[in-house]
Amino acid sequence: MAFMTTNVLKNLVGRYSTRLYPITTRAAFDAYRGELYNEIEKCIFCQNCARKCPSQCISVDKEIGTWVCDPFACVYCGLCVEACPVNCLHMKSAWRHVATGREMIEMQGTPPKPKKKKTEDAAAPAEDAEAKAKKPAKK
Ligand code: SF4
Ligand code: SF4
Repeated sequence: MAFMTTNVLKNLVGRYSTRLYPITTRAAFDAYRGELYNEIEKCIFCQNCARKCPSQCISVDKEIGTWVCDPFACVYCGLCVEACPVNCLHMKSAWRHVATGREMIEMQGTPPKPKKKKTEDAAAPAEDAEAKAKKPAKK
């Protein structure tokens, strides 16, 4: 009992052993895997991150240039960051913010221009030659 009283008095007059969050916050430590962030202007919409994600919480639409992540399904493993070929994915060294609803991280970028198919390129000169051959010779 005497031991408990000492502890109670210590806690009443001494420093708190916890912080008064959110008034007092603690800085995140180095290499902390915080909020996932995509520098969308660098993203090439290759879908590597979505393929590697173990919780399947990333969806990438190459056609319209959207990158969406569900932070409530994310397990913050960092595999998507390692898989990104252009290093546009990062994990911020900051605490995840408190949310009252299920919000998605949605980003809109510029979709890459579709490449011309090789078959079309190869067919064009052949078509030109065929058209020239059909033209009647000038007299
Ligand atoms: S950190 Fe892991 S779980 Fe979260 S989006 Fe990336 S690969 Fe998926
Ligand atoms: S891996 Fe990187 S470049 Fe590819 S879709 Fe994901 S964020 Fe974009």
